[in-house]
Amino acid sequence: METIRGKRLSLLIKEEDIKKRVKELGREVERDFATSKELIVVGLLKGAFIFMADLVREIKLPLKIDFLWVSSYGQSMESSGNIKIVKDIDVDIEGREVLLVDDILDTGLTLKEIYEFLRIRNPSKLKTCVLLDKKERRKVDFNADYVGFEVPNLFLVGYGLDWGELGRNLPGVYAVED
Ligand code: 5GP
Ligand code: MG
Ligand code: MG
Repeated sequence: METIRGKRLSLLIKEEDIKKRVKELGREVERDFATSKELIVVGLLKGAFIFMADLVREIKLPLKIDFLWVSSYGQSMESSGNIKIVKDIDVDIEGREVLLVDDILDTGLTLKEIYEFLRIRNPSKLKTCVLLDKKERRKVDFNADYVGFEVPNLFLVGYGLDWGELGRNLPGVYAVED
């Protein structure tokens, strides 16, 4: 039984199922960016690092990677919607084709703001990809172009997602039990 700080974790998505779905997402991205000379994949730190590492290996197109680090909401389980850029991307994305990757879409506040932050730099194409989507929690009108799994309104850890920085290394996705 997996636990974090004494709380039990229940398995929601198995490692093998993630692997299979990430392959499918790779095919979808390849299809939509087939004419791309050089795709730029931008991951949001830290949560997207494992998903992004697996995803880019399933995209058989010429691509570059970069990371954007925005401030998270620490130990809390709620998004504040007050996003601070800790580290910007290094590449100039003007006129480039960009895929923005995050771990989970919850209220949508974070990704919507980051999407706008990148969009004003005029990429020729900007798509978003998330592994997990808590659709029922959305507070703003924003959806990702590629979604791995729709998930229920539970606090999730594993496969890059943390609870107070713990649990990112779990190979599957788990719900933290109350
Ligand atoms: P949003 O702004 O969409 O509410 O929040 C998105 C961010 O909140 C995600 O990138 C993630 O860092 C964090 N988040 C939202 N839901 C969860 C969750 O269930 N588990 C974890 N670990 N982080 C979450
Ligand atoms: Mg995040
Ligand atoms: Mg976090």
